[in-house]
Amino acid sequence: MSKTNRISLIVLIVSVVVIAINLVFILNSGENPSRKNYKLPATELSEKAWGEILANNSAIDQFKVLKTGSVKVPRSGMLNTDKLDDKSKLKEFLWVDVFVFMFHHQDRGWYIIDTGLDSSFQKDGNINGFLASNYIIESKQTSGQNIGAQLQRENKEIKGIFFTHLHGDHTAGMPEIDRSIPKYIGKGDKYLDLPFLYSSNHLTSKSILYEMDWAEGFSKKPFDYVMDIFGDGSILAIHTPGHSKGHLSYLLNTTEGSILLTGDASHTKYGFKNNIEPGWVDDQKAAVNSLNQLRSFHEMFPQVEIIYGHER
Ligand SMILES: [Zn+2]
Repeated sequence: MSKTNRISLIVLIVSVVVIAINLVFILNSGENPSRKNYKLPATELSEKAWGEILANNSAIDQFKVLKTGSVKVPRSGMLNTDKLDDKSKLKEFLWVDVFVFMFHHQDRGWYIIDTGLDSSFQKDGNINGFLASNYIIESKQTSGQNIGAQLQRENKEIKGIFFTHLHGDHTAGMPEIDRSIPKYIGKGDKYLDLPFLYSSNHLTSKSILYEMDWAEGFSKKPFDYVMDIFGDGSILAIHTPGHSKGHLSYLLNTTEGSILLTGDASHTKYGFKNNIEPGWVDDQKAAVNSLNQLRSFHEMFPQVEIIYGHER
């Protein structure tokens, strides 16, 4: 075979392989849950001052944090390392906790926020593919710490699941949770299920996601968009995009006081205190803006307890 022919043959083989890989992806694209709009109820909150909202004699009378395990992740995912001081002494990989938050509303019953980890995280977890190990390097979980076991011990009827966002470590508990429970997310938040690259069995094409559209909410400084989920001021979703497009932080006004769940707008306390947005971002400018808003709120109302996305 002449040299030209050999080169042609190699080009042909490479082309066929590339086309074949593309076909596999097209024919075998992952699970895509269906989406519906969640109609936000009428609210009088936009007229009220924060002081009055936070003093709300709330219907939320119980709040619990369930730790479902820990994951080892790259520091560069948790924090924009360009802004990280060399003297921070933070290691290249960090162990962070994975939480589920549970609350009880007097009229509406029990809800959870995010779904934590299922029992597969005692070993390798339930996210597979070439890219998966770039996000979660290792996991730790004690026996009975998985969300399924904890919910079984709690023995409560869960009326709904609110997600901060749909990244794998927030949806990974789903295989152990009744799939018929309604799920609520920020509008347009992406669920990633890419065969061979980053695949999971957390949500299926049968899952319905109720999307909360922040544009139907209201502005209340320092926040651009706030949604009064039940219309009674007990739980507010705050649009804090950047880490992901539809990312939501939650403000719960409980009978014991108010609690701000930043979600992954700030994975860590270090990032919040030092004003460093996450390294993993969809939109860095938006991530900086969201962190600024949460920090401003904290300065205005330091009495509100904060729980970070992966640290408390
Ligand atoms: Zn995330």
